[in-house]
Amino acid sequence: MTPRRPAPRDDLRELSGYHSPQVDVDVRLNTNESPFDPPPRFVERLQAALGDVAWNRYPDRSAAGLRAALGDFLGVPASRLCCGNGSNEVLQTILLAYGGPGRRALVFEPTYALHAHISRITGTAVVEGERGPGFAVDPRDAAALIARERPAVVFVCSPNNPTGTVEPRETIEAVADAAADHGAVLVVDEAYGEFAPWSAIELVDDDRPLVVVRTYSKVWSLAAVRLGFAVAPEWMIAEFDKVLLPYNLSATTQAAGTIALDFRAEMEARVATLVEERGRVLAALAETDGVEPWPSGANFVLFRVTGDAAALWERLVARGVLVRNFAAWPRVEGCLRVTVGTAAENDAFLKALREELR
Ligand code: PMP
Repeated sequence: MTPRRPAPRDDLRELSGYHSPQVDVDVRLNTNESPFDPPPRFVERLQAALGDVAWNRYPDRSAAGLRAALGDFLGVPASRLCCGNGSNEVLQTILLAYGGPGRRALVFEPTYALHAHISRITGTAVVEGERGPGFAVDPRDAAALIARERPAVVFVCSPNNPTGTVEPRETIEAVADAAADHGAVLVVDEAYGEFAPWSAIELVDDDRPLVVVRTYSKVWSLAAVRLGFAVAPEWMIAEFDKVLLPYNLSATTQAAGTIALDFRAEMEARVATLVEERGRVLAALAETDGVEPWPSGANFVLFRVTGDAAALWERLVARGVLVRNFAAWPRVEGCLRVTVGTAAENDAFLKALREELR
């Protein structure tokens, strides 16, 4: 008798894993990483710190040193911080604590696919809300949807991936109020928050069910480290602590995250450079026939092309330029998303795009 393969959970049957192609081309502008290395001094300091690690021991379970440094950096108490292996693990932690079977998560599409994906992985049902004109969340629609659908978790991504939309403070406050009225947690995903003119971190307090999620993967040029964090009321952090695996953050990750913060000026200079380049890419796209870009408060630009976007994406890859293909995505049909890279990468992308559209 052939042995039977055990069946996974019924609710995983329809799911497939999340994949963004990692293609080895010259110009990689598809996953919104930083195009710049961290400063050489950062690498030296990290290497020196690794010499002091007690490798045979588990790392500090509470990541106290990292949280204290991060708290100082952000101007928030360390007791309001929770760290994970990338902000994706932080999102999973939030859902393990507040989502789960019999509960729902509300997302406003089009948005970061992992919000819905991690919801489903954690057994949380997904309710899809729509964004209004210009891809902004309408606070009144959102409040009505929260009242009707009673989600346990509400996601707002700002700046939103893949559209670049930044929500105004009034929208986040209104959605947080609606969440509070109905016992929901509002998650503001600020993976690109440093590129935006304001941050919801300033709204976090013990009376609001608001958690803001950030990452070291973008502006800190440390996607390889896998470090993200949440800023949340202390009572919420206590719930996250119950579901986090013990010693989730390696000693290496804790050291990298702490040392990086000493290079703030360099980080801010990288952000300023990318914001300037973003303006240049946006202006060039706006002037290109057959291309319609959206304004962006992040390190990427979404644009729609007339004609076959998927075929254009293929032709760009063939020319060594990898962007993100949203051609077949509901609500952003015919769109591609380009990460802002170095000036040379952006030039290579613009040149290839113009020649392929000609
Ligand atoms: N949130 C958003 C909106 C993102 O775009 C990303 C990365 N693409 C993440 C979270 C996850 O980032 P990480 O796990 O690397 O911190």
